[in-house]
Amino acid sequence: MTTDIKEYDIIILGGGPAGLSAGLYAARGNVKTVILEKLIPGGQLNNTLEVENYPGMDHVTGPQIAQAMETQTKRFGCEIINNVETKTVSFTSDYKIIETDKGTFKAKVLIVATGSEYKKLGAPGEIEYSGKGVSYCAVCDGAFFKEKELVVIGGGDAAVEEGTYLTRYASKVTIVHRRNEFRAEKIIQDRAFKNPKINIVWDTTVPKINGDVLGVTSVTLKNTKSGEEKDFKCDGVFIYVGLVPNTVFFKDLVNLDSGGRIITNEKMETNVPGVYAAGDVRETPLKQAVTAAADGSLAATMALGYLETLHDKVAVH
Ligand code: NAP
Repeated sequence: MTTDIKEYDIIILGGGPAGLSAGLYAARGNVKTVILEKLIPGGQLNNTLEVENYPGMDHVTGPQIAQAMETQTKRFGCEIINNVETKTVSFTSDYKIIETDKGTFKAKVLIVATGSEYKKLGAPGEIEYSGKGVSYCAVCDGAFFKEKELVVIGGGDAAVEEGTYLTRYASKVTIVHRRNEFRAEKIIQDRAFKNPKINIVWDTTVPKINGDVLGVTSVTLKNTKSGEEKDFKCDGVFIYVGLVPNTVFFKDLVNLDSGGRIITNEKMETNVPGVYAAGDVRETPLKQAVTAAADGSLAATMALGYLETLHDKVAVH
């Protein structure tokens, strides 16, 4: 190990709402804290235009909440380093060590707030036409489809909410769901059902995405009951078939559930002392910005208590 290892009391991996909230609580607790973020702070908030259910913040966009959280967290002295690529994570008896492309960081406490990313459908054409009509982000790419016909795949909050959002641009949005009812929240479903630009195809999967040199031209629809397949013309496909947790560095370090999510107790503690998890990366029944922020505050508060038991904080500069 080289001598230029940067030492902190608490390292937070991930700068979404869980990580930013953890950073705020940790820094307010007067311990030396850093957030290592792989892109820019905000996480999934950056892909969400309207956030209607963050209490106390009405008529606000995801990026606005992210920006406000970042500013507040920094104001209390939390360092945030963006565009950090994690190379390895390892634990010794005393330290949690993160090797990155921006140097090596170590701390007695690690809060894992790495969130999740969109699950791939796994259909032929998905990778080939990614960025050429296949997208996972309506806020990022919706405006490219003015007056076009789109297919949205999935039946959860994301598919139905983002499908509705896409009608701002598209002339028609067809939501294709593999069952005959959505799992999305009722208020989100009701809005979609009332939207004249939305068409819903039930009991159907998309086994193939088709296209030409310019991009997506159609999807193959397969009825799950009859097995019948047909070609359905469209200009773009938005895939919302769930989330996968970003736990690639943790599978041999902390206990995960069968879906790869980090298992914590109600104090956000993992099975490793000094390692906490917060937000979408952990096994949790609700994945919202507000629950992620709550997780982060709890993880940091528990971590502060843990550091007190060690009696040797790093001096805050
Ligand atoms: P989700 O709730 O896991 O829903 C995934 C949907 O995709 C389900 O309807 C599922 O069908 C379908 N699906 C899964 N694999 C499929 C496959 N291979 N082929 C076809 N369909 C497939 O995921 P989500 O909607 O991304 O939401 C994830 C979490 O974020 C949830 O906790 C949600 O409440 C939260 N959230 C998201 C937003 C947003 O992104 N706009 C907003 C609020 C909350 P089945 O129903 O048959 O399983």
